[in-house]
Amino acid sequence: MSLLVVGSVAFDSLETPFGKVERTLGGAATYFSVAASFFTHVNLVGVVGDDFTERDEEIFRGRRIDIKGLERAPGKTFFWAGRYGTDPNERVTLATELNVFAAFRPKLPESFRSSKNVFLANIDPKLQKSVLEQISGKPRMVALDTMNYWIERTPAELREILKHTHVLVINDAETRMLSNEHNLLRAARHIFKLGPRTLIIKRGEHGAMMVDSRGAFCVPAYPLEEVHDPTGAGDSFAGGFMGYLAASRTMNDAVLRRAMVYGSVLGSFAVERFGLERLRKLKRREIDARARHFGELTRFRL
Ligand code: AMP
Repeated sequence: MSLLVVGSVAFDSLETPFGKVERTLGGAATYFSVAASFFTHVNLVGVVGDDFTERDEEIFRGRRIDIKGLERAPGKTFFWAGRYGTDPNERVTLATELNVFAAFRPKLPESFRSSKNVFLANIDPKLQKSVLEQISGKPRMVALDTMNYWIERTPAELREILKHTHVLVINDAETRMLSNEHNLLRAARHIFKLGPRTLIIKRGEHGAMMVDSRGAFCVPAYPLEEVHDPTGAGDSFAGGFMGYLAASRTMNDAVLRRAMVYGSVLGSFAVERFGLERLRKLKRREIDARARHFGELTRFRL
């Protein structure tokens, strides 16, 4: 079933204890679509500048990613720079240059309007709303990511889009900020009143937790000796999760739990190398082998 993503396509400069890269390809929609395309066909909507070359576009080719909705605008592509210390959960943003992203008004090509599954990556809630308004019919699932910037600066607009969101995918700090609750289960209860019926809390090296009316389900982060670059882990998680769900005919508790595992699997591959280097070379059989290993990691008897 079709999956639409709207979000950033970017150049990132990254610094971690394992090294440094300048202006490597990144962006939430890029990580998401590459991760999700292992499971299903992805329709991508975003914007790039005239510095985005054919070579940069190669990441999408040969995959099930339709970039008809990737607009080209005069100017520079969105640029983000970040630094991580030894704790991969802590990152410092060194620069955010919106460039062509500042005037971005998402336009869905006609063939994207019937997308049944929608991922609204972290962008202005007003733009997230405008994407939903262009969808014809009722989507099967709308998932949304956001960040502290929008929670603090545009709370009313964010509340409006949350009313139309089924699954909210955010990190623990954002969960606390949005709900004004420190305890994550209490925070989830608060967030359900705003619209979403499922909350997925990304907790970096501590894994991820899904909370819904049935209770909570936790998946660990895959234990890795070296996390080279945490960038894109969250969006790759969301891509694995949504990609798996979009490819499933039903959406019951067992499917949601498996989707959480595939999310964690894709997040774990993303952080093994800088930028998109690892996802670029990833094979479906490696994904399935690691998913099976998750079963071993968490199996126990009483
Ligand atoms: P994450 O999965 O949270 O690590 O997302 C990392 C990606 O988000 C990077 O590749 C950045 O280019 C992108 N990014 C960083 N800041 C923003 C922002 N304010 N809006 C949209 N995308 C962003």
